[in-house]
Amino acid sequence: MTSFAACARQVRDLSLDQRVRKVQLRNCLFHFAPFGFRATWNSLVSTHRIPDHIAAHPASLVHALDELEAARALVAPRAAAFAALRRRQKRDGRRVPMTLHPWDSWGCHAIAYCPDPQRYPDESLPVVVGRVLEACASGAADPVAVCMVCGSKDRRPRRACPNCGVLPGGRSDPI
Ligand SMILES: [Zn+2]
Repeated sequence: MTSFAACARQVRDLSLDQRVRKVQLRNCLFHFAPFGFRATWNSLVSTHRIPDHIAAHPASLVHALDELEAARALVAPRAAAFAALRRRQKRDGRRVPMTLHPWDSWGCHAIAYCPDPQRYPDESLPVVVGRVLEACASGAADPVAVCMVCGSKDRRPRRACPNCGVLPGGRSDPI
């Protein structure tokens, strides 16, 4: 699979076939999709009014990519720090990663996973991702008691937040 950066370059290349650009935006989501693949795609389509026929609004794909990249930039330092930690652990003979959150080892993919692709936060990806990172960094986050994304206290263990659709703790596998 090509890299996120290679896919992103093709999304920005307005000289390419519009369908190719759309496919490449979807391919970016295999590398980084904060709500999970389908919910992130639906969120971007809705926010940036990506039409079925891209020729009607070619810039919509670039606007969606801008939002996705802004969220990815927030997690890049964390993903790099986790990779460095894993290298140290392997050097010390520890093969099983010690990680607090499952999404650490996936480069923060599905950091605010929404199991229902039609129910996801209204706010932009960078806002939501920033909130999850902040809550985790502060150590005050108790995702069972309060939703890290919207602050709702209407919580049930292992259920998605009824207010914003995010499942605390993310999904158990990356795809
Ligand atoms: Zn919520």
